[in-house]
Amino acid sequence: MQYDYVIVGSGLFGSVFARQLTDAGYKCLVLEKRPHTGGNIYCENIENINVHKYGAHIFHTDIERVWKYVNSYVTFNRYTNCPVANYKGKLYNMPFNMNTFYALWGVTTPAAAMDKIKKQRDEANITEPENLEEKALSLVGRDIYEKLIKGYTEKQWGRPATELPPFIISRLPLRFTFDNNYFNSRYQGIPEGGYNVLTDALLKGIEVKCNVDYNDDREYWNSLCDKVLYTGAIDSLYDYRLGKLQYRSLRFEQQILNTQNYQGVAVMNFTDRETPYTRIIEHKHFENAVSDKTVITYEYPANWTPGDEPYYPVNDAENDGLYKKYAQLASNDKKLILGGRLGLYKYYDMDKIIDVALTTAQNEIERKLSAN
Ligand code: FAD
Ligand code: UDP
Repeated sequence: MQYDYVIVGSGLFGSVFARQLTDAGYKCLVLEKRPHTGGNIYCENIENINVHKYGAHIFHTDIERVWKYVNSYVTFNRYTNCPVANYKGKLYNMPFNMNTFYALWGVTTPAAAMDKIKKQRDEANITEPENLEEKALSLVGRDIYEKLIKGYTEKQWGRPATELPPFIISRLPLRFTFDNNYFNSRYQGIPEGGYNVLTDALLKGIEVKCNVDYNDDREYWNSLCDKVLYTGAIDSLYDYRLGKLQYRSLRFEQQILNTQNYQGVAVMNFTDRETPYTRIIEHKHFENAVSDKTVITYEYPANWTPGDEPYYPVNDAENDGLYKKYAQLASNDKKLILGGRLGLYKYYDMDKIIDVALTTAQNEIERKLSAN
């Protein structure tokens, strides 16, 4: 065998796994079907600004070992994500906090804000929410739901909020302090120099072949190695023989503007139903990049059809059931290890991806050692 591992996909999962196994003394080959490495955290430098080509990425975590791990490869800046919501031209701070409540109702104390929200929750009178709309009304009341949640959510998921599962909304915290930090995580930031610095460091010294789709010649690549780590879409690995898994996709429209500062914040959400995009990202604010120009990206949610980028898995009962059947097929293949958000068909933030990749790599190293 030429390689111990052929690793399919050079995203964060594949890169961490490749690094760990290489450092443990095993020979790895990474295959990547795109022309560049890094998966969805890849950045392109335009006008001295690191542009997040596959959607805005903000690193945040509570997992100590993950924070230590990434910091051993790259320095993080002190970026704190404070998105602003734009509802029909009026601006509100996110997540829902005292600044938001003041802008909505003119309330200046936590007690007054709580009172307002309690009244609206009582009016909604929902004890067992069965869909996202009911969940939101029971958590935050009608004003916040209608101005800041309903339109954005229905655009994002392409379905009425009454037909969406309640769990999507549990990610939005409610705060009674003047704190616009979107995340509760202990650690947060953007790698200095952009995400490519991280993935380049992880892949340093490891053989990588770009523009290669493993599924075009699985037999050949399998013949070169002892084991395959696969981080692509699981249904494509089996030529969709049990059916196609569904995803939600995105369309990005990028503009370079001859202005230094377009919107004054990295992330502006458009929460009304009529504006067709959900957010505008102004990339320079992630890193305080110095440039006479600015690069902005409009993010349009899109239906997914085969061939489009599969951004978000649709984890409803039907798709999860189909995934389980594919995972069963995969478990019979002793040469195969599944990983990543596509291989595992689960929306993972970057820190969780690293955590799972570290555990998967450790299990492999232990298996190898016990086999010897
Ligand atoms: P990917 O990055 O998708 O990498 C998989 C790689 O495999 C790709 O490069 C692909 O081209 C390659 N590949 C697939 N099939 C094949 C094949 N057959 N042959 C060869 N190569 C193949 N997380 C956060 O923590 N913070 C955020 O702010 C955040 N924002 C996000 C915004 C968006 C719009 C999205 C979609 C995700 C966001 N995430 C965020 C999640 C983050 O992107 C993921 O956690 C992470 O990128 C997953 O890494 P991965 O390696 O599993 O997958
Ligand atoms: N959301 C919302 N209004 C906003 C931002 C988010 O209602 O201004 C809801 C929406 O349902 C979305 C969910 O919160 O799907 C999670 O959004 P977040 O931005 O945290 O996650 P991402 O889309 O970046 O994965």
